[in-house]
Amino acid sequence: MKSIDTLLWFEVLKFQQTQLEQIESMLEKRALPSFSLVFSGIDGIGKKAGAVYFAMAANCDQVINETNSKPCTHCRSCKKIIAGTHPDIVIIKPDNGLIKISVIREIGKILMYKQNEARVRVIIICDAHKMNKEAANALLKMLEEPPSGTSFILTVTETVDLVPTIVSRCLNIRFYPVPFKYLIKILIEKCEIPLERAELIASFARGNLEKAVFMSDNNWIDLRCSLINELDMLLNSSVAEKLIFSEKLSKKNFSEYLKIIKIYLRDLVIVKYHKNLLVFDDLKDKIDLLSKTKDTDSLISSIYTIDMILQKADKNFNKRLMLDALILKKQLYI
Ligand SMILES: [Zn+2]
Repeated sequence: MKSIDTLLWFEVLKFQQTQLEQIESMLEKRALPSFSLVFSGIDGIGKKAGAVYFAMAANCDQVINETNSKPCTHCRSCKKIIAGTHPDIVIIKPDNGLIKISVIREIGKILMYKQNEARVRVIIICDAHKMNKEAANALLKMLEEPPSGTSFILTVTETVDLVPTIVSRCLNIRFYPVPFKYLIKILIEKCEIPLERAELIASFARGNLEKAVFMSDNNWIDLRCSLINELDMLLNSSVAEKLIFSEKLSKKNFSEYLKIIKIYLRDLVIVKYHKNLLVFDDLKDKIDLLSKTKDTDSLISSIYTIDMILQKADKNFNKRLMLDALILKKQLYI
């Protein structure tokens, strides 16, 4: 399974029942001519699908009585929205990690005209925290005076990542991570991987369905094994060899590899106290053995340092320099 289709996302939305009921109740009351909403929560849990659900519920041809706001999914309007061809449902995504003011200005142009066919025009801005300052200010002006019959939905991991004046104009609806057991079910049924691998991926994905499917499609378990083997082989190597490894790693998917190392270090600590609480349970014997040679305090210190690097990793820092420093200070377990 290379991507998660819209209908599967709608199935996943059953774990956001309270949130959907909140959306339906808002639409049933129709107290406001337009809504400004923020859907917050970790990546890969259906926030965009929730926004599409809102668009469908607000425009479904079958929702004719105001006591029922569940979209039918098969009327002309619902079908167009699912296919992404509805002219009045606009979905904005970051381009190269950024939402620029030019994109927000385009929305402004759209808003100058009456919608084509929708009862409620919906502007969905995914990863709204990727707006630069100018874009955020331009959007704020629209939120201050939203045109009648137009709703905005912004998706974001944490509302603190948005400009406070935008947050204060929006109603925040918090989405929950996808339950562990359901992730396993999807991985087995849709990605066709065995239970053992599904459990391992689900524990690493931590409720993020998109990430779980990506990990399954990209053979993450084998990548993890080869990374850990490589690290173990470096345990008795020279500093020069370790620095060559650092260079290699910084050119790969740096953050993902560092996250794997962080979990490995975490397991090296946890195994000292509880052998059944490991994330990399399949490597229990190896972790148990190695843990006996490692000091708990320095492992915990390494975990904190990696965490700090991960927080900076997205911000154009010199990855290799950070990793070199980690190795030279002997803060990595190798
Ligand atoms: Zn419908």
